[in-house]
Amino acid sequence: MTEDSMAASAAGWPRWTKGLALAIAWVGLWGLGHIGEFATHASLWYPPAALTFASLAVLGPRVIPYLVLASFGGTLWSLSIYQVDMHWTRVVAFGLANAIAHIGCYALGAFVLRRFARQPGHRLPNQIIAFLLIATLSSALATIGVVTTLAAFDQLGPEGPWTTALVFWIGDFAALVVLGPLFAAVLLRLLRHNELWAQAHAVLRGGRLRDAFGYKLLFNVVLVIAVMLIADRVPSYESAFLIFFVLIPQLWLTYTESPMATTVSLAVVSFLVVVLLWLLELTQFVYVYQLAIAIIATTAYFGLAIPLLEAANRQLRQRLMFDPLTGAASREYLLEKIERAERVESESASALAIVDIDRFKAINDTHGHRLGDQALIAVAETLRAHVRGGDVVARFGGDEFMIMLPGCDHDRASRRMQAALRALRDVRVGDDVRLTASVGIAIRGPDESFDRWFARADEALYRAKQAGRDRVV
Ligand code: GH3
Ligand code: MG
Repeated sequence: MTEDSMAASAAGWPRWTKGLALAIAWVGLWGLGHIGEFATHASLWYPPAALTFASLAVLGPRVIPYLVLASFGGTLWSLSIYQVDMHWTRVVAFGLANAIAHIGCYALGAFVLRRFARQPGHRLPNQIIAFLLIATLSSALATIGVVTTLAAFDQLGPEGPWTTALVFWIGDFAALVVLGPLFAAVLLRLLRHNELWAQAHAVLRGGRLRDAFGYKLLFNVVLVIAVMLIADRVPSYESAFLIFFVLIPQLWLTYTESPMATTVSLAVVSFLVVVLLWLLELTQFVYVYQLAIAIIATTAYFGLAIPLLEAANRQLRQRLMFDPLTGAASREYLLEKIERAERVESESASALAIVDIDRFKAINDTHGHRLGDQALIAVAETLRAHVRGGDVVARFGGDEFMIMLPGCDHDRASRRMQAALRALRDVRVGDDVRLTASVGIAIRGPDESFDRWFARADEALYRAKQAGRDRVV
């Protein structure tokens, strides 16, 4: 199936079937969360929180009825697990109170994030930080709400409200941070075929999953298994804390692969921790693993900002260094190049040529700015065709170009510029418009400052203009 047909067929289903699928998935995740349960009503992580948050953030308030239904399912399941005998009216009240506390708190967070993400000018790094902050606060709120409900219905375990609340909060937060972005991506992929999806797709995939992703993920998986086997063989806090070493390959992956790869890897790693904790019965170290998941995920998402900012920097630098119209180097690039050459400079002479198009204003005025732009492009091309590899042609502003010819003496620089002017006389732009230019050259004197050197080339240009234009001085 192509992406289009998949999205179209998903979009073609009646809404209630999609809602029901969401509710079933939620209850399934509830069961998955129960695997990591180690205290009454408190899990190592709680994946339904991630689906609640992601579905509200992506699809909005219309998912609330299905989430309420799902939350009831979870409540009934937990009552049956703990073999609680409750009158059905109390069960309904308990389920409703749970649903309001859980869904209400995450809805608040999800809608704040939605508003934030929609504001123009908020780039992915800002959105990641907003997400982490909102995830922290809304999971804390949900914890207060649900633990209060548990207390009101006499469902708290022997651990008491504070211990339950702490574990509950970190469990919700860990799952929300690890799985929330992944679920949001999957929901966008399956249910929405619109602009928002296209944007998120581009941002989240950040290109493609590169070939090495599989190996890096395998490395993470092997490391998790290894450190948890050590903790099983030598059960101590010291060995349990080894799980934090997973942070290093995870950050390597985050730094070198797409954002989507980070999301997938975090989901795999955390799921593996939960399953191994359960299989190896390492529950006495559950706080260590819970915190490890939360901290590794938070750090990895925070780390995503670095490659994104780097890419943005590269783009900005590219724009700063090249003139978008003519493709010539920019003034900044040339000055940087000269500065660098000064630091390592050999004794050999360097020439600086300033080229200014003759009567360019008249070309603009007579034939329009578009043709003026074409003329600028043609001049830049002609100049580039007459320089060597190490020379730099830069647009200095307006109709003025500057050429640096390192290691070039007066005669050679002059010959090269004469040839460029000859070629320019044969260039035609638009309806047979002819172009000429004037050139001033200066050879850098020993210990001469750039400003002085430039001023002498500019003087030479002025004399070329005075002497009748279309010449090299
Ligand atoms: P001279 O022979 O003495 O150099 O005469 P000139 O008309 O070329 O005079 P001058 O160099 O002062 O004119 C520069 C003109 O270049 C003025 C401005 O309108 C035009 N110009 C500057 N930047 C651009 C551009 O990006 N595109 C176009 N089309 N025109 C530009
Ligand atoms: Mg000019």
